[in-house]
Amino acid sequence: MEFAEKTAVVTGGSRGIGRAICLALAQRGANVVLCYAGSEAAAQETASACQAAGGKALAVQCDVSDAQQVDGLMKAAIAAFGRIDILVNNAGVTRDGLLMTMKETDFDQVLNANLKGAFLCTKAVARGMIKQHWGRIINLSSVVGLRGNAGQANYAASKAGLLGLTKSTAKELASRGITANAVAPGFIETDMTAALPQKAREAMLPTIPMGRAGSPEDVAQAVCFLAGESAGYITGQVLCVDGGMAV
Ligand code: NAP
Repeated sequence: MEFAEKTAVVTGGSRGIGRAICLALAQRGANVVLCYAGSEAAAQETASACQAAGGKALAVQCDVSDAQQVDGLMKAAIAAFGRIDILVNNAGVTRDGLLMTMKETDFDQVLNANLKGAFLCTKAVARGMIKQHWGRIINLSSVVGLRGNAGQANYAASKAGLLGLTKSTAKELASRGITANAVAPGFIETDMTAALPQKAREAMLPTIPMGRAGSPEDVAQAVCFLAGESAGYITGQVLCVDGGMAV
């Protein structure tokens, strides 16, 4: 029960990687507060699964790109559990398209959800973590943020931006007992990648040295490691969970 007495806020916990992170943290004893954009039934199901795994859990609707809603999310977490120890900025969206034809709104929506959302959530929890002199912030970036990807200028920019946010947060908060790290998944089987055209999926597999897509649980294990006591001297790092894709 590594995370007994610890409270984790996981954004985008209703589905995919976020759901697996919530479950993995709950299985290790954490209280989990998960937020979702619109999938209320899925979010409640994740909360129930966390409770069945032995943890306490709360699902809160919150658009992470809205500062007021983020404040409401963190207030709900404090009201339920008294503190926030771990923040996992996992919520993310794609609006793929080639640069020449990409709509400005598609660029803004992706940057707002993926990058601004992580900034708002980090800002909202930092003061409490400083007071506790303990905190873990983990940002879900992507291999695409390291390498770029045709058709994903907005998404790649948001994920590269998260690396800058992670490293700056790490430097600002290191002396306060708070670590900030990024996890960069490769190709993981979730709703997000299921939406890719079959051709794109087939083209992806030969680029993965391990020859297979990853699972949400593969990513959740890395997040738990970075959230744990044993990763206390690791900060500002990017951990790829990608079957060797970015090597
Ligand atoms: P997913 O299955 O599409 O789930 C996305 C989650 O984010 C959902 O819980 C969704 O809530 C939530 N969300 C989206 N916009 C939000 C907003 N504005 N406010 C609050 N919550 C919001 O995605 P995934 O594949 O699990 O990806 C999770 C993270 O890993 C993302 O940051 C993604 O970029 C990153 N990642 C994924 C892969 C991959 O291969 N799958 C690879 C690299 C990085 P609702 O259910 O309510 O819509």
